[in-house]
Amino acid sequence: MNPIRITALTVYVTRIPVRIKRRHGSGDVEGSVKNAILKLETDAGITGWGDAAPWAVFTGTIEACTAALNVYLRPILVGADPTRIEELMGKADHAVVGHPEAKAAMEMALFDIVGQASGLPIAELLGGRCRDDIPLSFSVADPDFDRDMDTVKRLYGEGLRLFKMKTGFAGHAQDLTRMERFRKEIPADAELRIDYNQGMEAHDAIRQLRDVEAFKPTFIEQPVPGNQRAALAEITRALDTPVLADESVFTPTDALTVASQRMADLVSTKIMKHGGMLAGRKIAAICEAAGIACYGGDMFETGIAHLAGTHMIAATPNISLGCEFYQATYFLERDLLAEPFPAIKGRVVVPRTPGLGIKVDEDRVRHYAVETFK
Ligand SMILES: [Mg+2]
Repeated sequence: MNPIRITALTVYVTRIPVRIKRRHGSGDVEGSVKNAILKLETDAGITGWGDAAPWAVFTGTIEACTAALNVYLRPILVGADPTRIEELMGKADHAVVGHPEAKAAMEMALFDIVGQASGLPIAELLGGRCRDDIPLSFSVADPDFDRDMDTVKRLYGEGLRLFKMKTGFAGHAQDLTRMERFRKEIPADAELRIDYNQGMEAHDAIRQLRDVEAFKPTFIEQPVPGNQRAALAEITRALDTPVLADESVFTPTDALTVASQRMADLVSTKIMKHGGMLAGRKIAAICEAAGIACYGGDMFETGIAHLAGTHMIAATPNISLGCEFYQATYFLERDLLAEPFPAIKGRVVVPRTPGLGIKVDEDRVRHYAVETFK
């Protein structure tokens, strides 16, 4: 491989309309989503793409994310050798604290360049794939539950078997009614998973979650606020159903705390929380050492970030609980990839072509761009 240099960096802030509403214990999403799409050009004629998908109530704001890329990470990237990914990510952490979505976008664009230059898919750069496809989960989160059940039935017909019901925003009785209807109307081979997105009050959580256990969920995700780890640990000990930590685990240090004290049975990895695939794999390794399996979570991403998450999961044995990369196919008005994101018959197929594996439709990126920073 000949030496390569990054010659230009562009950030497109896109606003893409969404087709369905989403309600969560932590906040609602409707109308449209804003992403920071990163384009890195090189003197080898190879272009790498990244997608930062911040959410103000979870990881951070689009404004701060855009500034991190445009102001703080630009000087690290322009002129750099894109193959020195670990070194560049270290410089990024030194230049700006936090901003994991911006760092995830930066890292996936670097891997996209190196993959195309070497002729290898990102999964192979990370150690090689241990799976060729990943079971896909759809989130049941529409405030109109009838419409959601129609969607669930349609997706079940398409082959999806994993469904994650978002709870904790409309009251306990309403949550139980929704679970009851799901179990009554959807065949028993569909897995029901429950995600409170921190929506419970710790003092009454155990009693309410014992009611939820009657519907045999595969796991119960993040019932209490992320920083209430003692309460999370108490719930994990009290329930028979596995408890999954999401908002409680952003960094490898968080993972070490949760794993060493067994505060949860399972952990959700997300490149937007951790700041990339390498950080996600560190977290999966810490969890693996404690016998904690991981799940492939995501934020309101385009297919670009879904592809990075797909390669990470493909190359990481311990992220074994499937993924929720449904937004590109079922949520956004249109995705930014030139071909459909490969979610087929309820599974995400890991690309075999170099880099991220699917080209970005740059005209469409420009169409949805509301701001551009060159
Ligand atoms: Mg979650």
